[in-house]
Amino acid sequence: MKKLIPKFSLSLFPFVKKPLILLYNLTQRCNLRCDYCFGQYYTQSEELPLEQSKDLLSQFYALGVRRLGLGGGEPLLYKDIDQLIEFAIKKGFDVGLNSNGILVPDHLPALKRLSNLSISIDGANAEIHDCYRGKGSFAKTMLGIEAAFKEHIPLHFCCTLTQKNQEEWLELLVLAKKYQAKLQISPLYHQISGQESGVFPKPIEPGKLKKVLREIIREKKSDNTVFFSDQTYQLILDWPNYAQDYSANRESGHPVCLAGKKIITLDSQGNLFPCLRVSGSGKGRNCLDLGALKAYETLELPACKSCKWACYIEYNSLLNLSFGSIKNFLVLRSKRALN
Ligand code: SF4
Ligand code: SF4
Repeated sequence: MKKLIPKFSLSLFPFVKKPLILLYNLTQRCNLRCDYCFGQYYTQSEELPLEQSKDLLSQFYALGVRRLGLGGGEPLLYKDIDQLIEFAIKKGFDVGLNSNGILVPDHLPALKRLSNLSISIDGANAEIHDCYRGKGSFAKTMLGIEAAFKEHIPLHFCCTLTQKNQEEWLELLVLAKKYQAKLQISPLYHQISGQESGVFPKPIEPGKLKKVLREIIREKKSDNTVFFSDQTYQLILDWPNYAQDYSANRESGHPVCLAGKKIITLDSQGNLFPCLRVSGSGKGRNCLDLGALKAYETLELPACKSCKWACYIEYNSLLNLSFGSIKNFLVLRSKRALN
């Protein structure tokens, strides 16, 4: 039986300046080469050894972090991933992991301990998925999904909406229901400056995106397979300028951004950042040199005040105690706790 809420920490209170959520990108390596990958995932192979990772996680736990999101690159390529998951769960973290699914069958005992396993999938068939992720990748990802499903691992499917797969989310919804998975749908964001790739897919044209967002909101109101709350999609729908992903102003209805305060990001070399957008910008603080506390306390916060990144809107709304997000979280969690 999975826990409904993580172990108590003062960080759970919005007015306490302590981190609660750590996104740890364990490795820059990946076994795929997706067209829209933001990372410089193929150029760096350095990653922290297990003991250093454990030490940093202990420091962050002591600071108040209770939710740990493991990512990459492909985090299942991290040499000691099973031991790290085991350690983090024993420590008291609520742990999720984002993967492309391919290596899932090799790590089932460890993955069974997760609160959620998020698998990136671009379409409900090979034609769409493989066009971004490479021939044969859909079949391998589906083997990972099947294996996780058989082991009752709570699944999330993560779909990035682009011009090519804008109609696909309904098919993915059917697939998610089949595997009792939650569906995280996020519009494609623009490339992060300095991380451009020449094959980046085209975002959906604004009029079409709005139509899809309205459909998603309608679906979310009648069924809970879509993961993010309807208010998150409403905020994306109302975003004032689709040509930009973030804004120097706090846009109407948006929660106060808590990146760098409650939500922090650690890269594979121990550099701490407030938010994924600035990860890799050279503006991080190295936790190995400074220790987790000093790195956290000296973080340089980005100038933006709001953005249209679905996961950050949802996290920020939750941490700002928005009624809609709390209700969504508790409904999704209570269903999982009963599994
Ligand atoms: S699976 Fe993820 S990390 Fe790997 S190339 Fe694709 S988008 Fe990048
Ligand atoms: S508004 Fe916050 S979460 Fe969004 S891009 Fe800026 S710092 Fe990151």
